[in-house]
Amino acid sequence: MKNESAAATLGDRLVMSAKKKAAHSEALAQGRHEDFVIALLSWYRQNKRDLPWRRTRDPYAIWVSEVMLQQTRVDTVLGYYDRFMRAYPTVSALANADLGEVLTTWSGLGYYRRARLLHQGAAAVRAVGLPKTAADLERVPGIGRYTAGAIASIAHGEATPLVDGNVARVLARWFAIEAEVSRGVGQRRVWELAGELVRMRSASEDAGAFNQALMELGAMVCTPRAPRCGECPSRHHCEARARGLEHRLPIMTRKTAPVAWRRVALVAFAGARVLLGRRAGVELMNGMWEPPMADATDQQDAKTIAAGLARGLDLAASRVRVVGDVLHVLTHRRMMITVVRAELPVRARVSKKSPVLAPYDAFVLADPSARKKLACATLTKKLIVAAQ
Ligand code: SF4
Repeated sequence: MKNESAAATLGDRLVMSAKKKAAHSEALAQGRHEDFVIALLSWYRQNKRDLPWRRTRDPYAIWVSEVMLQQTRVDTVLGYYDRFMRAYPTVSALANADLGEVLTTWSGLGYYRRARLLHQGAAAVRAVGLPKTAADLERVPGIGRYTAGAIASIAHGEATPLVDGNVARVLARWFAIEAEVSRGVGQRRVWELAGELVRMRSASEDAGAFNQALMELGAMVCTPRAPRCGECPSRHHCEARARGLEHRLPIMTRKTAPVAWRRVALVAFAGARVLLGRRAGVELMNGMWEPPMADATDQQDAKTIAAGLARGLDLAASRVRVVGDVLHVLTHRRMMITVVRAELPVRARVSKKSPVLAPYDAFVLADPSARKKLACATLTKKLIVAAQ
């Protein structure tokens, strides 16, 4: 019975979805949304934020900005973008740089996988440069559908869509899409609508301006919790507003709670120097420097684990003591790290012959100025501060 009713619900949703899709397409075909495209572009011209990546059509600069903006606020990205573009002004400059150096420049921005993929993508196109069309851009390692759409439309004016969280929210409300927009039917529908809209943009505007206008509307007016419908250029065309659904849409997938992860970190000082290990061969934080860490259970003694890490490196640690816990939340994990402080002889050395402790492939004792030149995540700074 349960399966039958689930199938019926899914069938209903598909039928509803097909009807709604036909209605939307009809409205678009009749040009009823052309006014709204014009109103949106006019609003964008008057209200867009002046951002450095909006002053260029350089596809590489747009690529860097789009990667940085994934899961990160504009205010945070601004400083990092300038620093990164000064360090690596072209695709070939980035491709020729050492990955460790790139990660150092990225330090503090988080989600380091993005920097690794950017570097990998630059290396793949070093000889030929970035392709121009969205279809070709998607073949570059690390460039997905959204980023390909952004580069192709903004840099080259290709009438190709892009859908990020802002665009999905705006379209889900405009067209009252009552299906999850992050997957399945709803996701396909927002991409289709974004494609139909970008192709009907005003002839005097380019596709890049239209795509950015949609994103800007989502970021500034059609915000997740409190859409400012009174200021919205599409308020007279918005189905969600007309039906009082603006606070209920879009329907979002319920996020799974981050998995708890208990760890122990050894923060060992040799005078002003701190012991750091470079993570290698692991997806998470690969190439980043951090105080050596090991997994733990609630029953295990943190001091014993930390002392074992020091012994594994042939280091004589003394005054080993637990200083407290540090919470660090990642997208899918909630790390609770017990910080164990230890002291090493002031002249302690870690040689290249030191035994390797997985997942680390190198260790250093780095003073504060040396640490600035290493790729260190925010967590590394948190752990060192906690132990000082
Ligand atoms: S009218 Fe309101 S809900 Fe509709 S698109 Fe504008 S801000 Fe969003």
